Amino acid sequence: MPPFGSRASTAPNSHRASGRWSPSSAATRGVKPVPSSRHAIKAKLVIIGSGPAGYTAAIYAARAMLDPILIQGIAPGGQLTITTDVENYPGYADVIQGPWLMEQMQKQAAHVGTKLVADHVNKVDLGKRPFRVECESGDVYFADTLILATGAQARWLDLPSEQKFRGYGVSACATCDGFFYRGKEVLVIGGGNTAVEEALFLTNFASKVTLVHRRDTLRAERILQERLYQNPKISVLWNTVLTDVRGHDDPLKVTGAVLRNLKTGEMTQRPIDGIFIAIGHSPATELVAGQVEMKASGYVKTAPHSTATSVPGLFAAGDVTDDIYRQAVTAAGLGCMAALEAERFLAAHGEAEPRMPAELAAE
Ligand code: NAP
Repeated sequence: MPPFGSRASTAPNSHRASGRWSPSSAATRGVKPVPSSRHAIKAKLVIIGSGPAGYTAAIYAARAMLDPILIQGIAPGGQLTITTDVENYPGYADVIQGPWLMEQMQKQAAHVGTKLVADHVNKVDLGKRPFRVECESGDVYFADTLILATGAQARWLDLPSEQKFRGYGVSACATCDGFFYRGKEVLVIGGGNTAVEEALFLTNFASKVTLVHRRDTLRAERILQERLYQNPKISVLWNTVLTDVRGHDDPLKVTGAVLRNLKTGEMTQRPIDGIFIAIGHSPATELVAGQVEMKASGYVKTAPHSTATSVPGLFAAGDVTDDIYRQAVTAAGLGCMAALEAERFLAAHGEAEPRMPAELAAE
């Protein structure tokens, strides 16, 4: 695995500038000066995001000779890197691990020629093509086409006490933090696949796991529900919501939860060591907010049966656009579609070679 989190490009497929900004010449033409340590990099295709959608797009685009550059982001591999058993990704008869699957996808993308960059995108300008993609390192990419595969991030209840104790007994990742609750009692909030999987996983450590769900039926798949009900360490509190997290201030530590029964209105306080919030995910759309059409649900809108967005040359794939299926395999499928559509877009626009913006081309 490459040194995730590092700001350096990842060898052996790291990509560096073929042209450089010159602060002085840029300034004389009224262009915002950029520190000389920054690199300006041209590309036919830049992919933002390193989950199944991003890597699959990269695999197809690299094989189509588009020389894709994939910017991996702060948490390379996406949501599958914080999950454990995966048994519904086709092609594997045995249960596989999420992080392993993402490692394989990354290696495959690199193997076929994708330039993987361990950097974080701070800003995207979709005002004109080539699109401008600014990274945390200072590097700036000019992309003729862009695939947005930024995925989704965990949602929170937004209780002030939940925010206060985040990292001190409140978590959104059982895989990351479950180990700290050996022999302790925990709550899991939510009723979807994630909540049930988190509850099951936590039984490896915790002495008791209580799933707290706001309705009286679970949204999770039947097979997961059966495993949940059969597990002697797990109980379920129906029609119940978390209204407050209680704990010590110095050091910060969760000691209890206040719960409200939505049917009876009854409030109860129960001692607890940890609370895992598993109420779904929100699409990571900040980079393109206000620049591209969104669905009412907040996901990036695409044309029917397509990954094309309202901005020509911008394609969206995976959980950033999919508010229905949100599976690793559907994300991979959308990534494939996005690469094929980017290839056709470039062919239709006669852009076999990327163009540089005028201020760079003049240097
Ligand atoms: P989800 O399916 O959207 O479920 C979110 C759950 O949290 C729902 O039960 C919802 O309640 C509850 N919830 C939402 N907001 C709440 C609030 N403010 N207060 C209390 N409860 C709240 O999200 P997910 O479980 O993260 O799954 C997301 C997607 O990933 C799904 O498509 C899922 O199938 C997929 N996934 C698949 C796997 C797998 O195949 N192994 C594993 C994990 C996730 P309601 O039910 O009342 O709406």
